[in-house]
Amino acid sequence: MRLKHLAIAGFRNIGAIRIEPGSRFNLLYGLNAQGKTNLLEAIYLLGSPRSFRNVRLPELIRHGERIAQVQGEVESGDVVSRIRLTLETAGRRVEIDGKGIQRASDLHGRLNAVVFSPDDTGMVKLGPESRRRFLDRAVYMGDIGYLHCWHGYHRILKQRNHLLKSAERSGLDTWTEQLAEAGAEVIERRQRYVARLDAMLKRHYGMISGDGETAGIGYRPEGVSTTDRKSIRMELLELFARNTRNDERYGTTTTGPHRDDLTLSMDGRQLKAFGSQGQQKSFVLALKMAEMDNLQGIFGEPPLLLLDDMSSELDACRNGNLMEFLSCRDIQVFITTTERSPALTGAAAHCAVFRVEDGNLTFEGNESHE
Ligand code: ATP
Ligand code: MG
Repeated sequence: MRLKHLAIAGFRNIGAIRIEPGSRFNLLYGLNAQGKTNLLEAIYLLGSPRSFRNVRLPELIRHGERIAQVQGEVESGDVVSRIRLTLETAGRRVEIDGKGIQRASDLHGRLNAVVFSPDDTGMVKLGPESRRRFLDRAVYMGDIGYLHCWHGYHRILKQRNHLLKSAERSGLDTWTEQLAEAGAEVIERRQRYVARLDAMLKRHYGMISGDGETAGIGYRPEGVSTTDRKSIRMELLELFARNTRNDERYGTTTTGPHRDDLTLSMDGRQLKAFGSQGQQKSFVLALKMAEMDNLQGIFGEPPLLLLDDMSSELDACRNGNLMEFLSCRDIQVFITTTERSPALTGAAAHCAVFRVEDGNLTFEGNESHE
């Protein structure tokens, strides 16, 4: 996939810009708080219903403006489509080739992007919520059915919690059955994804670390030991039945896929507790490589890579590993840094350079870093 043209207006601190990115490496450099991450966020939002930052929609609209717009021309295979995203406080609107889309899933697969940012280490260090957010986003990217079943599950969960909060109990069983049904689909899709990702993670970690440990990512949903939807549904029904008392006491559904976690491990031990800083960073890098390869496998072409704050995230060695990975894949990359010439080597030797200053973008030419 290639982003061939990008126009942004009234988005975060970006007034109005228009650029034609290079087809391989794009370096966006500038001082702090100039709008580098904002640019990556705008690109990401062209292909995804949610930002990679945990934000509310009005925060994306430039202070003092009513409306934000991001437009992109995306080439996928030999098809070029124009995506236009309009954000207003009341909601978002997406048009593809001039026609408004009806469902969020219509956007699926139009512009795939993997983000690698300093916040990603939070996935190792923080609580289950950050890992669930990663999981849900990552599963959705490669699985068009996931968004629908995830929304369905959350709709039913809300109804069930509403009943649990009230004194009214009639209908609880029906909601519980529906929750198990929808939950089983959420779990099955997550399991399938994580199993694939784990195999790719192991391979990439092995290559970049070179020190013989095995990295692992696992998903073991509470109360579930099977992997086909029917059996998962039965197990969820049992789980919910076991916890009804608790649910009634707390007025909320205390177990289920909305509470599940991912396990990140190094030689079978918890990464957060036992992995060194360096191992944790390599793990996250390998995970991103796995995500890219997984999307390439599904769509037949690699996603964009949005690499935020490269110098803070990657030391020379990991940077070299990443460049080697990128050099044998036809990936369009957007890199932000505070330095004009970060350690771009090999494949990244030729790149389009843009200066980011106070929400403006200036093309400075194609450059060689060799
Ligand atoms: P760093 O190198 O520190 O990561 P950056 O160049 O990535 O910096 P961004 O996060 O892209 O910086 O931009 C931050 C700037 O955008 C801040 O000055 C912030 O106040 C501004 N900003 C964020 N949201 C809005 C908004 N809705 N309207 C106007 N400005 C905004
Ligand atoms: Mg930033």
